[in-house]
Amino acid sequence: MIPAMQAIQKTRPEFGLELREVAEPSAPGAGEVLIDVTAAGICGSDLHIYEWSGGYEFVAPAMPVTLGHEFAGRIAALGAGVDGLARGDRVTVMPSVTCGRCESCRAGDFDRCLTRTGIGMTRQGAFARQVLAPAINCVLLPATVDDELAALTEPLTVGARAVESGEIKKGDRVLVMGPGTVGQTIAVMARSAGAEVTIVGKGDADRLVCLRALAFERLIDLQDKPLAEAVGPGKFDVVFEATGVPATINHGLGMLRRWGILVVCGIHASHAPVDLNRLNREQLQIRGSNRASRATWRRVVEMLAREGERLRPMITHRLPLSRALDGFELARQKVASKVMLLPNA
Ligand SMILES: [Zn+2]
Ligand SMILES: [Zn+2]
Repeated sequence: MIPAMQAIQKTRPEFGLELREVAEPSAPGAGEVLIDVTAAGICGSDLHIYEWSGGYEFVAPAMPVTLGHEFAGRIAALGAGVDGLARGDRVTVMPSVTCGRCESCRAGDFDRCLTRTGIGMTRQGAFARQVLAPAINCVLLPATVDDELAALTEPLTVGARAVESGEIKKGDRVLVMGPGTVGQTIAVMARSAGAEVTIVGKGDADRLVCLRALAFERLIDLQDKPLAEAVGPGKFDVVFEATGVPATINHGLGMLRRWGILVVCGIHASHAPVDLNRLNREQLQIRGSNRASRATWRRVVEMLAREGERLRPMITHRLPLSRALDGFELARQKVASKVMLLPNA
């Protein structure tokens, strides 16, 4: 009999997730490693997949699939031909798995890999005791970055990539719309690039408290006030949209100075209306931002080694895998910021 483990799986293209008994992963193949997962964060995209609210239809053919793409763990076994890693090494893992051989990969455009898969989306993920990953996707962790902080690497790389897209410079005035984890990581990375950061949320008291714990002071809850009234119009060099609410795109454009940049980071279940005349007359730009490069992953791990402790308040809940669905509900109700699952606790 194949040994079993528990896993949080998406089994059907409809609302919900299941805690299921699944087979343990097979022994790692050539170039792969088997990882004991020690910490795995629930991401906004996991919530979208849980709610099945649109934007993640590409996951359906992989079902039943174990979610979990922001994680850290210890290497339990190595496949043939793996160099530079050893049993017991602590790693975090880039979830985007590319072939390295196709036309796009050979041109260095890994994001466009013709057979790209995502750990925890279109291949088995880390909301389980063990997960398989290509060795090349592993990033070694310094001893000073513990497991739960290491599991913040992936969301921080998303924030870092957004800040790169917005070309943030020292002294820039930055508005982050959306105080969830993506908004928080953008705020953290923009601050570290020297920007003056304002963050707005709507009915998001708990997550604004989390941002205060991260030492942000310019925080606005739009519960009763429209954005333009709360922060004044047209003042920001760069606006980051991290709400996933299409209507916020126009509000964000209205907050930019002339020649300002709006970076779209949320995943939107429907299309957004855009005031193109404003875009044209004010010479604004809209840019998209998503996955980060390996160089950015390394930079974020170094940052965690330096100042990770300051970022620990991002993690508001820690739960065993058996209580993962409670964690999803806490995140869905915006009570939680980052919920960390501890599958080997
Ligand atoms: Zn994520
Ligand atoms: Zn490829």
